[in-house]
Amino acid sequence: MPTTQATHAVQLHTRPRPPQALPEGGWTVQAVQDLLDRPLLDLVHEAQTVHRAHWPDASIELATLLSVKTGGCPENCGYCPQAAEFDTGVKAQKMLEVDEVLRNAQAARDAGATRFCMGAAWRAPKDRDIEKMAELIAAVKGLGLETCATLGMLEAHQARALKEAGLDYYNHNLDTAPEYYQDVVSTRQYQDRLETLENVRAAGVKVCCGGIVGMGEAPVHRAGLIAQLANLGPYPDSVPINSLVRVPGTPLADSEPIDPFDFVRVIAVARITMPKARVRLSAGRQQLGEAVQALCFMAGANSIFYGDKLLVTGNPDAQADVQLLARLGLRGYQATTSVDDTLPATA
Ligand code: SF4
Repeated sequence: MPTTQATHAVQLHTRPRPPQALPEGGWTVQAVQDLLDRPLLDLVHEAQTVHRAHWPDASIELATLLSVKTGGCPENCGYCPQAAEFDTGVKAQKMLEVDEVLRNAQAARDAGATRFCMGAAWRAPKDRDIEKMAELIAAVKGLGLETCATLGMLEAHQARALKEAGLDYYNHNLDTAPEYYQDVVSTRQYQDRLETLENVRAAGVKVCCGGIVGMGEAPVHRAGLIAQLANLGPYPDSVPINSLVRVPGTPLADSEPIDPFDFVRVIAVARITMPKARVRLSAGRQQLGEAVQALCFMAGANSIFYGDKLLVTGNPDAQADVQLLARLGLRGYQATTSVDDTLPATA
């Protein structure tokens, strides 16, 4: 099968098409694949046109992610250094205390972050974990930050409890296309993921859901992932797109890295198919380099994970990010959440 970049090597001067509307009946994998196969500059131009129409302030959201319960996870996601069965050097730790989480959240806010995401390496939280998380969420919300959590599979009553605590977003990624999912993780089903997303939405919590590329998937699987996301009813409020960080000891450590221009294509297609979503450059940003990140912003990315660490893997230095945004003339998004709108802090 030809690579996407080879496919368009001789088509650089085709005329731009008008921005795509949502196809009747939703996005087919073929329609998304057709977008991915377009000449890169045409695709980026189209994505930028859609982006400007829906995001006139052109701000970049800064979201910070903290691991509040690291390692020892019983799942076997092939990309994850926190799975207990992989020998990655990550040790299982106890859940962080409220004070420590608050210190991190305050530092993130002081550095300009507007959203604070808390991740825990669980297959699914127990109800007593939800009680502890509710405490953390209320405390972080009390700082005037938007709150997000990623805790694994969630039941309906647990989603409601987190909403009551002040949770704004719940992250639960689809990871990849349904057809490739079992090559990445076998301890749960795609349908499990979809059910958690339904529980989250039903509780009134906004959905943060994306995936990972560079896991050895074929281009059609990238198209399948984007079609799945875009066809969720409605599509996610935030769409994190990760480029695999190949951690030694994980089954996917030797995956062929994705061509950076193909990564840009995925960002552009996410923007075109989900025009009002925050499309976030997530894991793997360190490997992209500044020029490719700039191209991603051009293609419609308008959120980054911000802070020197992403759960247990590296992330660009926060100061370097501030400088990059300044050099590009981009500015951080100012959250509309105010301390007065929020629940009182518990610590
Ligand atoms: S469920 Fe989360 S923490 Fe557990 S192995 Fe999968 S990605 Fe890692």
